[in-house]
Amino acid sequence: MIWYPYEQMKTMKIPYEIVDAQGVWLYTREGGMIDSVSSWWSVIHGYKHPALTKAIVEQAQRFSHVMLGGLTHEPVQKLAQKLAAWLPGDLDYCFFSDSGSVGVEVALKMALQYYVNRGELRRTKILALTHAYHGDTFKTMEAGDDADYHFILDVYGEKQDVIHIPAEIPALEDAFLRHHAQLNCLIVEPLLQGAGGMRMYDISFLERARELCYEYGVLLIFDEVATGFGRTGYRFVADRVLPDIIVLGKALTGGYIGHAVTVARQNVYAGFYDDDAAHALMHGPTFMGNALACSAALASITVFETEGYMEKIARIAEIIKREMEGFTDPRIREVRMMGACICIEVNEAETLAGYQEFARARGVFARPFLQYLYAMPPYTIGEKELVRVLDTMKAWFHRPQADADRRGALPEAAVFGAGVPGELQAQNG
Ligand SMILES: *Cc1c(COP(=O)(O)O)cnc(C)c1O
Repeated sequence: MIWYPYEQMKTMKIPYEIVDAQGVWLYTREGGMIDSVSSWWSVIHGYKHPALTKAIVEQAQRFSHVMLGGLTHEPVQKLAQKLAAWLPGDLDYCFFSDSGSVGVEVALKMALQYYVNRGELRRTKILALTHAYHGDTFKTMEAGDDADYHFILDVYGEKQDVIHIPAEIPALEDAFLRHHAQLNCLIVEPLLQGAGGMRMYDISFLERARELCYEYGVLLIFDEVATGFGRTGYRFVADRVLPDIIVLGKALTGGYIGHAVTVARQNVYAGFYDDDAAHALMHGPTFMGNALACSAALASITVFETEGYMEKIARIAEIIKREMEGFTDPRIREVRMMGACICIEVNEAETLAGYQEFARARGVFARPFLQYLYAMPPYTIGEKELVRVLDTMKAWFHRPQADADRRGALPEAAVFGAGVPGELQAQNG
């Protein structure tokens, strides 16, 4: 029995069973649908990309995994080298882990211990943003601020170690003024808050945060698990504002194997580099630096670099803007777009009930949550497919009322996408 994520198992709908996938298409036995969410924002090259598959297969023929405790190997060395060269500034020191949540845990632990190592024992607090999402493990839930994910923490009473502020400069300045002596870090999802509802804010907030963090000696952590690798239209938001620690996950391996990396700057690394053994970072996920994951990540970065991905992303942003700007409906609170992300926030979550089936009947896989109907497609999506995704979103608001009344009960096999996988052309490019 599978226990599915974020689901009330008693009432959940039967999930679509995927039997094949290629390019932007997912296939059930009935037909294809465009994956408009890139498997939780990770599959940036689409499915079955030959370069990534080849990298994984070739590495599997050597070995799939060896631990990093006392051992090392070429894929992890090459990936660390590549990240150090590719990431901005002196973000050079790579600590690998198996998921984004753990990567954030590592960043938070680094920030805390950085000060403990210096004997600054009062710096126990984390500054974070309202509506933040940083993962589902306990400390990341605490750093997060989204009742829909984290409400169980309420039984512990008020959070002791985390202060939440909105992404607004006055609130930021006020928090630094009042709490700077107790803060070890400020952690943010830069520019785009994903699971908290695709909320977007201005870069000036991050620029001011950078100044204040330098001024008060507080470490700035960018959780770019969702925003990294181009999603916002920047390669990394860190290209614009340099954090002390960055966390990457999701698209790190092109979404092929779960992996994450916490990358620190020289100043952070120096805080641990010491003759005192107790100043070491005592952390070590079993599967950190997994050789298959590292090989996939290296191939993914090579494709990203050599196949004009920033232009692909800019083009997606353009098409989104062209198709969606000015789109309104009385049920819509706001339409937000940034880079390769579009979100329609509605007033009532109920407005989106039945959307998944509606989209599926039009050859699109979508997974709206709460009041948010969004798309974050693979960057390899063609114009025709992207327009279909966006048209489907718009059509939901324009559909005849009779359709709305039958919501959730649309026929299974209405209009599906392309034919069977075998007949498909490569969707990449
Ligand atoms: C998804 C996500 C995480 C958690 O990553 P997992 O791999 O699911 O543990 C952390 N931070 C952000 C911003 C995310 O979007």
